[in-house]
Amino acid sequence: MTPPTTQERVDAALDYAARGLYIIPLHDVIQGHCSCGNPQCNAPGKHPRIADWANAASIDPAQIQWWWTQWPYANVGILTGQRSSLAVLDVDPRNGGDLALEDLVHFYGPLPDTPMVISGSKGLHYYFALDGPLQKFDPGPGLNLQADGALVVAPPSLHASGNTYEWEASSHLDDVPLAPLPDWLREMGAGQYPCGWRRSPGYPAQCALPGPKGVPPYQVPHPDR
Ligand SMILES: [Zn+2]
Repeated sequence: MTPPTTQERVDAALDYAARGLYIIPLHDVIQGHCSCGNPQCNAPGKHPRIADWANAASIDPAQIQWWWTQWPYANVGILTGQRSSLAVLDVDPRNGGDLALEDLVHFYGPLPDTPMVISGSKGLHYYFALDGPLQKFDPGPGLNLQADGALVVAPPSLHASGNTYEWEASSHLDDVPLAPLPDWLREMGAGQYPCGWRRSPGYPAQCALPGPKGVPPYQVPHPDR
């Protein structure tokens, strides 16, 4: 796969910025090595090039052009949370996120149609409109809700695996409007369910999530498991 050009990276960053999504230049990976130079880097190509990134993230085209002039192969990061009015549900199948999401969807109903990215590690990022503050949190194993205090790696960034982040077919920001973050996800993050969500059979009864079907997700049978 051909790595994305500088122009492709800048064009994408400018396009996101024009939509009010705050941009953060990220380190990049060349032949598996992170540009930060740390051979033990635990987030190659995924961490900011700039200090104080939550405040320094920008929608200013001149600033964005300058960043990619300095670092032509910087990956494109988007600040999540209140400033960008964006929350992103990151589903990592390598850590069981697909199964955890399946349980939540079984319990609360399907996620609305909304823009979606296939990450470089073949995970899924669901983009939602966010109104007001919400701290990032983990709705379940292999699931991250990226909001205040977080960022996402956006297309066409290059992952350490050599894959690029891609908008899922027909799920680009041009194709489908951002759906509002589902209420149940917001409520989970707002701490109304202080125990979060657990599958464990030993899960304390007082932590059971109330829900439309009245059945905590860990009791939902899964014939395929
Ligand atoms: Zn690094």
